[in-house]
Amino acid sequence: MPLRLDPREHFGMTVTDAFMDALSSDLEALDQKRTSFLQWALKVPEPRGPLNFERWPFQRELYEQGFDDRELVVMKATQLGLSAWLVRWALCWADMHAARVLYIFPRERQLLDFSDGRIKPLILGEYLRTRVPPASVMNKTLKSVGLGICYFRGSEAEAGLESIDADALCLDEHDLLVQAHIPIAERRVGGQDSMGLIRRVGFPTISEHGIHKEFKKTDQREWHVKCDACGEWQAITWAENVDMERGIRVCRACRKPLDVTVGEWVATYPTRDVRGYHVTKLMLPSEDIVARLIEASQEQVAYKRQIFHNRDLGEPWEAEGARLTAAMIAAAQRDYTQPDAYLGSNPVVMGVDVASTRALNVWISEQGEHEGRVLYLGLVDSFDDLAKLMDRYRVSMAAIDHLPEGRLARAFANRFAGRVYIVNYATETQKDVLTVDDQQRRASVRRTEAIDALQERIRSQRERLPLDLPTDFVQQMCANVRSVEQDDLGKVKVLYRADGPDDWAQAGTYALVAADCWWIRQQVNQEEITSLDAMTDLGFQRSAIREDSMDYSPGRDDGSYMTDQHVNGYGFEDDGYSYDE
Ligand SMILES: [Zn+2]
Repeated sequence: MPLRLDPREHFGMTVTDAFMDALSSDLEALDQKRTSFLQWALKVPEPRGPLNFERWPFQRELYEQGFDDRELVVMKATQLGLSAWLVRWALCWADMHAARVLYIFPRERQLLDFSDGRIKPLILGEYLRTRVPPASVMNKTLKSVGLGICYFRGSEAEAGLESIDADALCLDEHDLLVQAHIPIAERRVGGQDSMGLIRRVGFPTISEHGIHKEFKKTDQREWHVKCDACGEWQAITWAENVDMERGIRVCRACRKPLDVTVGEWVATYPTRDVRGYHVTKLMLPSEDIVARLIEASQEQVAYKRQIFHNRDLGEPWEAEGARLTAAMIAAAQRDYTQPDAYLGSNPVVMGVDVASTRALNVWISEQGEHEGRVLYLGLVDSFDDLAKLMDRYRVSMAAIDHLPEGRLARAFANRFAGRVYIVNYATETQKDVLTVDDQQRRASVRRTEAIDALQERIRSQRERLPLDLPTDFVQQMCANVRSVEQDDLGKVKVLYRADGPDDWAQAGTYALVAADCWWIRQQVNQEEITSLDAMTDLGFQRSAIREDSMDYSPGRDDGSYMTDQHVNGYGFEDDGYSYDE
């Protein structure tokens, strides 16, 4: 039978290791896990009411199956009751199986709201009230439930994630989490004593990234329904099942109205181990939803289109022209190969990305009046080799990634004083596109604008490329996808997400930073101060949302960083959405 502990006994007792061993070796109880989650969940209603599988038939399988699978992925539209499922799953593991559960949200602030708004009402319900000690009800980040514990954490704070060893990990709003911290969280359930359970839930953003990348590794379950009229079994898709004129869902074969509530989950790849569910608003029974979705589908503004695809259909999406293409890169190539050295008199800039592979990706470019010409694209192993390149190509200014070899980069900057800046991406609060601190030899640049500038230069063929490009160059240059999104706090923002390594794009971006730093030095030397935009057309163009202006601010227009040089703190966090920060 399932474990049922008298709460009085529970609250009065000290939990010993022996007791915990006895608990986990209770095979009969383990056997019960598979069927008991649904029964348990039915005892834990939300304020709006208990689980209703007539209304939400697609939810049933998630409560009936896969409870103790090690891993499970849900790629979903929003507001379909899946967060409620995830919270119940977490609380059930704590309550029934004495598990330590780590539940992660994008931000601490949001987590506190969620704790009050969603979790507290659940644990004040008739059943859970007897399982949660009163002191724990009030604690927003830690809930003791039964013999287990749920920890709730925001993804921004690395320290908050590192201190906890857990049996189960819930990653909620997966693509809004600080992506670099996901592996840290995963290690919390990697220990020998851990049950090693992971649940990934969220709406997708761009393809091959985040939750979509995870979903693609699974058995990819889709909700299939049977047409009453002709008997056709089918998954419900926007393209095949929505009759825009009648505003209803129809059978893809006979075009008769389709009842989406009588269906079942069908795996696209049944032999794969990990379950993955794709949940969309097309599965909701009410016909009202169809009219709303049709309206949403006709939005032209980029971020609203993004919302429709990501949050209504639960599908990845990217705007046309959101990334560089192989054809654009080919068009920027000119009929020459990388020279061994440079003997000319134009300024030469160098951008260096310190890649995870430990090699340094180096981009060296000669700066003409209106355009650049790439002289060198290559990998070097050490800062000594980098020094040789400085001489060989008469580099006037270099910009080097501050991570992860910060100390070596700093020594290098000191060695070439005045010719090397260490670059980091700005925090969200930095208003100016670029700030430069001459004393510290540091520059801080806003990531979105910097990548915009590089992409624009390639597109407009103002950064000429040689014929002999490194093998992974094209793929990496095309990895960054520009996305206009509403973030978890409802603010519209422009950001780049990468669907793979983008070291070459980073190196190119830093080369542009170096070019700006060089121009700034020229101006400083002449004791003249002009605006960034007037000063040079090498510089960063102000990023803008093309279709509308919303409340996205590209920064001040007066180029005032010149008069107000500072590095905005040493926080060094970027906006946290990129692939390999
Ligand atoms: Zn039909």
